[in-house]
Amino acid sequence: MSRSPELERKLAILMSLAADDREGVPPPPRLRYAADVGALGPINIRHLRPAPGMRMSLLRILMTNACSYNCHYCPMRRDRNIPRTLLKPEELVRIFLGARQRGWCEGLFVTTGIPGRPVKVMDDLITALELLRERHRFGGYIHVKLVPGGEPSQIERLTQLASRVSVNLEAPCGASLAQIAPEKSFGTTVSDLELVRAQLLGERAERAAGRPRDALHPGGASGMTIQFVVGATTDTDRSILDTVSRLSAGGGIHHAHFSAFRPIADTPLQGAPATPALREHRLYQADHLLRGYGFGPEEVVFEPGGNLPLALDPKSAWALAHPERFPVEIGKASPEELMRVPGIGPVSARRIAVERRGTSLRTLADLRKIGVVTTRAAGFLTLGGRRLQTSRWTQQLGFWGPEEEVGAHHMVYQVSPGTFR
Ligand code: SF4
Repeated sequence: MSRSPELERKLAILMSLAADDREGVPPPPRLRYAADVGALGPINIRHLRPAPGMRMSLLRILMTNACSYNCHYCPMRRDRNIPRTLLKPEELVRIFLGARQRGWCEGLFVTTGIPGRPVKVMDDLITALELLRERHRFGGYIHVKLVPGGEPSQIERLTQLASRVSVNLEAPCGASLAQIAPEKSFGTTVSDLELVRAQLLGERAERAAGRPRDALHPGGASGMTIQFVVGATTDTDRSILDTVSRLSAGGGIHHAHFSAFRPIADTPLQGAPATPALREHRLYQADHLLRGYGFGPEEVVFEPGGNLPLALDPKSAWALAHPERFPVEIGKASPEELMRVPGIGPVSARRIAVERRGTSLRTLADLRKIGVVTTRAAGFLTLGGRRLQTSRWTQQLGFWGPEEEVGAHHMVYQVSPGTFR
C-alpha cells in the first residue's frame, strides 16, 4: 500500500512528536519501526462521512502491533516475525493533540494488539483516554477498541470516557472462533459487550430523561460497533447475520464491520483463499437493510449454501423472490413500500412522497433527478399505471461480475484491511 508524500510528511511529524518533546533526540528503540508499513504503521488519517453532507477526519492509532495472542488470520500474531512498535499513552496523546492542533483531524480512533495481560492493556487505553479527557479537556469524538478480558470496572471506565466502543467478535460463535483464535473466548467477549451495552443504554436513558450531555464523559452513547472476519472459517453469511441480528436486538449497536479474510504471509492460513471483497460488500448491504429499511432477518434471501448471492444486491434478490409485491405504483405506494424497491432509499422514498403531490414525476428522468437509481428500480415500478421496465431486466444486468474476484489468483498479503477495525 503506498501513501502520499503529504501523508508521509504528516506521519513523520507525528512520529517525531511521539518520540520526544526535545529536538534532535532520536526515537526510543520501541518506536524505531513505527513508520514502517510492514510493521503496520501505527498512524493513519481517515476521512469519514458520518451523515450526508458531514465530514469528519479521524486519526487512527494502533497503540501497539505487539501481541501475545496467536490468531491464525492476523498479521500481528505472536509467532510472526515482524518489527514491533509500541506507543505509550502519553505519546499517543501527544501525537493526537499535535495532529489536531494542525487541523489534520477532529477525532480519534484507538486500537491495539494485546501484549501481555488484557488488564494491563486496558489500563493503558484508560490512561490515554483519561489524559485526553481529564487533563487536556478534549470533548470530541473518541472511538476505542475494547480489549476483552478486562475487569468490569475497567470496561465501565473506558466506556464512560469513549464516544464509541467497538468489540471484535471475529466469528459468529465460540466453536468457529476457537478454530481461528484459540486463545480468545467468545463468551468473554460477549459478556464484556453486554457490560458496555448496559452502560451506554443507561447513559442514553438519562440523557432522554433530561440530564445534559457531558462531552468529557460521553458514556459510549454513539453506540457500539462489532466486527467479524468473513471467510476465515466456514461460517455462512446467514450465521454471521443471525449473530448480528441477535446481538443488535438488545440495542446500542450502531453497526457491524465485516472484514473479508485475506491470507497473510507466514500465518497458518497463508494458503487459504482470500474472501471476495464483494462478499463483504453484500454483508454490509444486508446489514443496512436490517437496520435502516425495516427488513426482518427472516426476509434476507440466501443461496442454498447459506451465503448471500454475489451477483445481486440483497434488496434486488429479495424483490426478485417476491414478484407478488411488484410492481409498485409510484403515485400511490407508501414510503415503506417504496423503500423496498431496489434503487430507492429512505431519502428518495420521502422525496417521492413529497414530489408526487404535484405533477413533476412523469418519467424515469424525473425519478433519477430526485435520487432514484433507475437502472435498478425501473423494473419494479409503474408510473401512472404504466410499466417502466420488466424485472427480468434487473436480473439480467449482472451488476457486478463476481467471477472476476472468485476466479482471481491466490495472493498473499503482509497486512490485513481489518487491522484498524
Ligand atoms: S487478532 Fe488481535 S488478539 Fe489476535 S493476534 Fe491479532 S492483534 Fe492479537
